[in-house]
Amino acid sequence: MKLLLALLTAALLPPPAARPAPPPQLNPNAACRRCIQAYENFLASDALKGRGSGTRDELLAATYVASELESYGIAPAAADGGFIEIAPGRRVSPPPGIVQGPAAAILPGFALPSPNLGTTASVVGVLRGRDPQARALLLTAHLDHLGVIPDRALDGDDIFNGADDDASGCSAVLELARVLALGPRPRRTVYFAFFGSEEDGGYGARYFTQHPPVPLHDFFANLEFEMIGWPDAKVPPHTLWLTGWSRSNLGPHLAAEGAKLVADPHPAQGFFCRSDNIQLAEDGVVAQTISSFGMQPMYHRPNDDLAHLDVGLMTASITSMIRPIRNLLNGRFAPAWNAGMAPQPGFRCR
Ligand SMILES: [Zn+2]
Repeated sequence: MKLLLALLTAALLPPPAARPAPPPQLNPNAACRRCIQAYENFLASDALKGRGSGTRDELLAATYVASELESYGIAPAAADGGFIEIAPGRRVSPPPGIVQGPAAAILPGFALPSPNLGTTASVVGVLRGRDPQARALLLTAHLDHLGVIPDRALDGDDIFNGADDDASGCSAVLELARVLALGPRPRRTVYFAFFGSEEDGGYGARYFTQHPPVPLHDFFANLEFEMIGWPDAKVPPHTLWLTGWSRSNLGPHLAAEGAKLVADPHPAQGFFCRSDNIQLAEDGVVAQTISSFGMQPMYHRPNDDLAHLDVGLMTASITSMIRPIRNLLNGRFAPAWNAGMAPQPGFRCR
């Protein structure tokens, strides 16, 4: 009877060649377009009201990112041992006459309840490598955007969704965390950080550099992903660019490994100094930003939204980064500043 059942079952199964390909989520060598779309659908949704720096909406974004990391098998690595790192942010006076929350009941008109103003939320996770002595890689993006600004509404829309700035960077770091956790465990450790309050003065990254999970000199590089959801006509299709290209040997190395990565074609804009990477760079880490921003008019406007996102560009360009980053984690390459090109605190940015 058992043999008959086995024969019947075998007859009903399709031959191996006809079996459907595994779902894209299980391929450790390619970014999954549907996953990227899903990250964006949440982070850039109107429900998150533009993830204003230091707001409850930023905390909701952080909570979502932490949940995703946990589901991939990434370990928490924030300063208090969890995923979410609450740091001091910009202190904002409450609007006149507005009294909120239990803290306000104690100090009417003075205190606002955390995390609504005065603090910011970041997320930090880690995929530990096989070699505990090896220095680590840090992949980063920023969680926050501009929130809701009624005075700057566009066609009645006052939600600054930040689908490109920087939900696209968060999607890249999430997707890299997901595929790196899928594949064989790398030799070197990789940290994933999603900073709060970049738009408001870099508070999340500043706290991270002051309370790092390992001493900062134990990071051999930081790659920040910032605005990779729009194509830049100045570079070939499905290509990203790196700020401060000539400052280090990292960009040329990644490109030689197959990353669709070229030099920043807008050096006059000073983008090397305009993202959270600069805080790590000033502390000595080889820290540069990957982007494809093509100076689009949607920048810092309500129409930086899901409708204007190029998910095909994101999928192809993130895919091109997977093997170079995996090789970086398994190899011995040591990124270094080129002679005289390491930024010093207070240096004049170019
Ligand atoms: Zn940004």
